[in-house]
Amino acid sequence: MVTTDRPRVGVLALQGDVREHLRVLTDLGADATTVRRPEELATVDGLVLPGGESSVIDKLSRAFGMREPIREAIAGGLPVYGTCAGLILLADRITDGIEGQQTFGGLDVTVRRNAFGSQVDSFEVDLDVPVLDDPPVHAVFIRAPLVEEAGDGVERLASLDDGRIVAVRHGALLGTAFHPEVTGEHRFHALFLDMVRERVR
Ligand code: GLN
Repeated sequence: MVTTDRPRVGVLALQGDVREHLRVLTDLGADATTVRRPEELATVDGLVLPGGESSVIDKLSRAFGMREPIREAIAGGLPVYGTCAGLILLADRITDGIEGQQTFGGLDVTVRRNAFGSQVDSFEVDLDVPVLDDPPVHAVFIRAPLVEEAGDGVERLASLDDGRIVAVRHGALLGTAFHPEVTGEHRFHALFLDMVRERVR
């Protein structure tokens, strides 16, 4: 039986910063587990798509027979949180993907890969996130994507000072262009766990 206060959350463990997500989820009281196979996906109440390299995760997900099961799970309403490469994988449309790159999709946004170019490979900034309490979120961007365009139903959770969107939510899907899991920032994962509990209920 599923217990709603200790949701079972998977982290897609094909490539990327899997361990960091497992740690944050465990700290927050979730039953966190790696997911590499369809049978494992079937046991979770929510899924995290980690940061890493979206084109590699895309290829491996096809090689491991995970692409269709993940697409079906998203279509079926499974809560999914994507950080950085994970946000790219959730996007319905991407620009600057590598040749043949696919996404799982589900999130009605256009995301540009490596949107900050090679000169600013990574940077850190404090972000106001109205759905989270104070203080601002200290966000680390590493070869980060940007949400270039978002459909009508998509909630914009955070933007840079110039207005460019870096965190979104739509239904059971949450995406951030940055990596809360590497800075000890737990509030986005806590928000995600609320979404998972909501869905389990
Ligand atoms: N640039 C990477 C990609 O295209 C994302 C980087 C990250 O996840 N930190 O997938």
